[in-house]
Amino acid sequence: MSDLESLFASNVKWAEDIKRKEPNFFSKLAEQQAPEYLWIGCSDSRVPANQIVDLAPGELFVHRNVANVVIHTDLNCMTVLNYAVEFLKVKHVMVTGHYGCGGVKAAMENHKLGLIDYWLRNIRDVYYKNKDIMDELTDPNDRVNRLCELNVVQQVENVARSNIVQNAWARGQELTIHGWIYDIHDGILRKLMPPIDAVEQIPEQYRLY
Ligand code: ZN
Repeated sequence: MSDLESLFASNVKWAEDIKRKEPNFFSKLAEQQAPEYLWIGCSDSRVPANQIVDLAPGELFVHRNVANVVIHTDLNCMTVLNYAVEFLKVKHVMVTGHYGCGGVKAAMENHKLGLIDYWLRNIRDVYYKNKDIMDELTDPNDRVNRLCELNVVQQVENVARSNIVQNAWARGQELTIHGWIYDIHDGILRKLMPPIDAVEQIPEQYRLY
């Protein structure tokens, strides 16, 4: 069996296992999805969103990109956020970074990589904004991991400052933005910062209301 054929075989087994436990699982799910959470995470293959928090299909709306970056001009990310908040009415958005992130690491090195340089520029900005904190650290791993954390904080702020989230709060919709970090060494997810659930928690300069 070729590698790809084994994936199809695994898929059939997976679907059958689920149907054995819950015969109507897929037919129920096909009618609608009602996830309570939007996960914005890194594309890294070691950070699989549903598996980490043990959620079934239908329970987690997911957006992943290199280094879990949220940019207001990224039509892809903003479309996911818009759909999750306004139509699915998720209650929580979690930006989940991870230690040892290759995207964050690449942003700390002075190499020209091509198109990805535009993307990593956002993380370079996070570094520069927090230069005093970064300059205090000398160990290379500590520096990468601290920037992974600071990047999550920045991306949480970007989510909270978006018009999509502020419009939801203005409508009276309950919506909380979380910053989490995952450790690929022990499989454990940790809270990184206090959640943001009201416009008063964002700086006045960014408030639309
Ligand atoms: Zn990563």
